[in-house]
Amino acid sequence: MTVTQLKAVPVPHSALDDIPPMVERLRATFESGKTRPLAWRREQLQGLRAYGKEQAERLAEALHADLNKPAMEAYAADIGQVSNEAKHALKNLAKWTKPERIGRMPMLGKSVLMRDPLGVVLIIAPWNYPVGLLLSPLVGAIAAGNAAVLKPSEVTAHTSAVLAETLPKYLDSDAITVVEGGVEETTTLLDQRFDHIMYTGNGQVGRIVMEKAAHTLTPVTLELGGKSPCIVDATADLETTARRIAWGKFMNAGQTCIAPDYVLVEDSVHDGLISALEKTVKQFYGNNPQETQDYARVVNQRHHGRLTKLLEGQEIAFGGKTDVDDCYIEPTVLKNVSVDSPIMKNEIFGPILPVLKIANVDEGIAFVRARDKPLALYIFSGEEDVAEKVLEETSSGGACVNGTIMHIGDARMPFGGVGESGMGAYHGRSSFETFTHRKATLRRGLRFDFKMMYPPYTKFLTNMVKKSV
Ligand code: NAD
Repeated sequence: MTVTQLKAVPVPHSALDDIPPMVERLRATFESGKTRPLAWRREQLQGLRAYGKEQAERLAEALHADLNKPAMEAYAADIGQVSNEAKHALKNLAKWTKPERIGRMPMLGKSVLMRDPLGVVLIIAPWNYPVGLLLSPLVGAIAAGNAAVLKPSEVTAHTSAVLAETLPKYLDSDAITVVEGGVEETTTLLDQRFDHIMYTGNGQVGRIVMEKAAHTLTPVTLELGGKSPCIVDATADLETTARRIAWGKFMNAGQTCIAPDYVLVEDSVHDGLISALEKTVKQFYGNNPQETQDYARVVNQRHHGRLTKLLEGQEIAFGGKTDVDDCYIEPTVLKNVSVDSPIMKNEIFGPILPVLKIANVDEGIAFVRARDKPLALYIFSGEEDVAEKVLEETSSGGACVNGTIMHIGDARMPFGGVGESGMGAYHGRSSFETFTHRKATLRRGLRFDFKMMYPPYTKFLTNMVKKSV
């Protein structure tokens, strides 16, 4: 059986002239106060829950057409994350929005933190999880009481079209709108005034977004990528380690922002790990992964070309078959990789895993520290102290001990990068915080007024204040 061929479809576009008045319309809605009441926010979040349930199959079909995404990965990692986030927000909305009492300021009044919605926000999403990365941030934007413009990736055109067609049936179109398109449309959007921009994608475009946002002093959240390392020491259980690395790497054909990018393994278990990875990949995808429904494709021929070029001159431990017409690259592990080769320079973002030998964990730590701070870091070890040392001595957006990817699944934890892997964070309460302003508020009464504090200042007051310094 051959899997469905990825079909090229025309990139959907919104009319450029429609963009400025559309943003103004959303601003008018926000200014009217419509998006502030908790009832409105709940209704939209429930709309998103219903959307996930009722449109799951259509979205999964579109994801299959765009990426050959297995249904399980579509439901669990893409569509499912939106439902989970919306459920978590609905449960916690009252708690999050309640003004937070800080305490009393002696003789002055009560300090309280209020959470103001920001206004109209822009959410720009990439193609690898085109549903989840567009709508999970939206959960936070809605919970915070904002209006929002959603810009799905044009690269996954089937999914973009389904989102644009179906979302208005579930959400208030006066406040939430989808703009389809690519660079031109996103550029026109970035020329409008927003109150926050959340961008997920590569760092090059992240810089463009930040530069544009600087003109209007618009705050940005940048969810970027990078080379997320795995460090494996000699005490790690190799079978479990291989299973967890292979799962995190080859899911969505390696096109996951927190996929393990490369492995640094202690010399003594290098060969054992490679054998365990090979055995695992066979167990997951069979002898010919091109035939299974459970293995995705590279998103398009441009990325296929980029990835096959990275294979040139490399020593393939196993895998390595490619088929450009099917955008297929077999799950591939490389060994004896030079640190100076192109594959070790930029994020791979595909199903190719370089495995590099290290003498010990200290060498692994030094390797990671000498490079950009990654979005995720994975340490596999049977020794808790070793894992602790790696966590203490490295900096990364997030981390997982003896596992990959799963740290993203706890909605109570922030998800975001550091340094080159991004700025700001979201998920759960962090999304709500990202899309609100924390207004420091002092609440005073009018009955008591300490008149001595006003000019003309007495010598007594000046001395008293001086003593307190
Ligand atoms: P992409 O090509 O879909 O681009 C992302 C968005 O930017 C799209 O909506 C696109 O229309 C817009 N865009 C592209 N070029 C632009 C330009 N010149 N000006 C304005 N807008 C422009 O996706 P991508 O960047 O290829 O995504 C892959 C990258 O995203 C990887 O580096 C990956 O690690 C990263 N990523 C990060 C996260 C995270 O949560 N941190 C999640 C997923 C992907």
